[in-house]
Amino acid sequence: MKQARHILKTIFGYDDFRHHQADIIDALIQGQDVLTLMPTGGGKSICYQIPALIRSGTAIVVSPLIALMQDQVDALKQLGVKAAFLNSTQHAGEQREVEEELRSGELDLLYMAPERLLNGQMLQMLDRCQISLFAIDEAHCVSQWGHDFRKEYQQLSMLHERYPDVPRIALTATADARTRGEIIEQLALQQAMVFVNSFDRPNIHYAISEAGNGREALWRFLSQQHPEDTGIVYCLSRKNVEATAEWLNAKGRIALPYHAGLAQDVRSRNQQRFLREDGLIIVATIAFGMGIDKPDVRFVAHMNLPKNIESYYQETGRAGRDGMASDAWMSYGLQDVINLRLFIDKSDAEEQFKRVMLQKTDAMLGLCELTRCRRQALLAYFDEAMSEPCGNCDNCINPPQTWDATIAAQKVLSCVYRTDQRFGAQYVIDILTGKSNERMARNGHDKLSTFAIGAEHSGPEWRGIFRQLIAHGYLVADTEGYGVLKLTPKAWPLLKRDCSESVQLRQLSKPAASRQKKTKFTAASNLTDVEQTLFEALRTLRARLAKEQNVPPYVIFSDKTLSAMAVAQPQTPGQLLDVSGVGEAKLARYGDAFLGEITASA
Ligand code: ADP
Ligand code: ZN
Repeated sequence: MKQARHILKTIFGYDDFRHHQADIIDALIQGQDVLTLMPTGGGKSICYQIPALIRSGTAIVVSPLIALMQDQVDALKQLGVKAAFLNSTQHAGEQREVEEELRSGELDLLYMAPERLLNGQMLQMLDRCQISLFAIDEAHCVSQWGHDFRKEYQQLSMLHERYPDVPRIALTATADARTRGEIIEQLALQQAMVFVNSFDRPNIHYAISEAGNGREALWRFLSQQHPEDTGIVYCLSRKNVEATAEWLNAKGRIALPYHAGLAQDVRSRNQQRFLREDGLIIVATIAFGMGIDKPDVRFVAHMNLPKNIESYYQETGRAGRDGMASDAWMSYGLQDVINLRLFIDKSDAEEQFKRVMLQKTDAMLGLCELTRCRRQALLAYFDEAMSEPCGNCDNCINPPQTWDATIAAQKVLSCVYRTDQRFGAQYVIDILTGKSNERMARNGHDKLSTFAIGAEHSGPEWRGIFRQLIAHGYLVADTEGYGVLKLTPKAWPLLKRDCSESVQLRQLSKPAASRQKKTKFTAASNLTDVEQTLFEALRTLRARLAKEQNVPPYVIFSDKTLSAMAVAQPQTPGQLLDVSGVGEAKLARYGDAFLGEITASA
């Protein structure tokens, strides 16, 4: 372990191991198998990269995303580590070169996709090489229930049979117990040491608001909190992705669309720009994001409800991998709540599967309508207890007011009942607010006793009430009738007024709470003016160096490292080496340039 610490300091430039890193590294060095569950940004890569440098031979890293291998390898090369990848983006000549390096034992790490590894020729080649370890990244891809299922991942259990003496480490940021069990079983990791980290992401501020106009709310959020930052905006449909990207561009931001309907070259170009340019927004469907390890994503905004908490956690988790303050922001409305259920019901999945999906949807809705700490609820969903409210979510910072909505709820339920549970929300709201139209008159519904009994609330307010009544399980959006609202068993006692329970709902449309800047997680925003100016100068220098080498800026230094430099203002190579994130290779490569900039700016 002394050697491991030395490598941590000299190559990676860090003083201490985080979480279970030291134990994991120790186990691998000893030749044991390991399963690691760590949240995004927790520092998984170092867990196999350091043993790869210590054990003799080449470490084989299995990763499903070939598009990102280049950046991972670039980052290692910046550290002076001998790494390479093999995938279909390379010419035959390049591939042969890498294979040659592998055969001659020159490589410390080699990245490849599972299908490449499982190919007979590759295995024969590996038989003749010394392999230090196998790292199976994104190991949850073995899970049939997960959304990232990859068939080839299940065949990776053969590694254990073919190379019984080579330690394996499986890594994932997916938390739940079922997936964990599947990984162990499918990859034959029964003997593995399991390290489960807390899944809390304390630097992420969670906020969920119910907006009438999602775009305006998004704009407020962006202009107030992230006028110049990089982030991801998730939309449900491809059409919305394109429209939102266009709208943001018209507003003066640089925004690029990303969805599965775009040509492959457009997609990879947009992803590439997102990784390499500062301040760019990517507007995407959930097709975007897996394995995106850009550390300085400052916000993830959802314009619709994700389909379950797992997705929400994973998507929002792409913010703030560098540990600096970041936002997970969401805006949703009544139609989202209706659509989500319709979507599941209309799918041709099996009944049992649908039931599980619906339960998960309900849990997601519960998180949205929550009036307590969001983080506590989020962690509880992953079986992790948190004793105190977090103080860094919208509900903690600005506790929502509730109001007694019993009478309003009774009006709604009664109106749904009197129209024979055959209409959608808007129609029922029009009755409540007394907005007659031809169809209503034809149905005679303008004569109902519930006509115009809800004038005390506006249309948008009623939509909020409907949404919450669905979320709390008093109403369901029927799937056969496309959004027709029906009463649930829970609704009857309330409708018949034979329950003493009151219905407490969130106060309607309060402006979203703004994040309190927590010093612990901020860097750039917490700098003095002088430091801030230096930080910007260092970023400009970094951007230029990155461009010259055609690598993403963060593989040179992270924002965190640059802001630490701006604060410490080192004058000598030795002092620069003391800054977290500066190792020997980077000192040799960039020391003069950055020290020069610091002196020049002083
Ligand atoms: P993950 O793959 O778990 O999402 P990474 O391996 O990309 O996370 O690490 C996230 C960030 O944390 C990287 O910038 C990495 O260099 C940094 N990091 C990892 N381990 C440490 C450590 N012990 N001390 C400081 N920073 C670390
Ligand atoms: Zn909280």
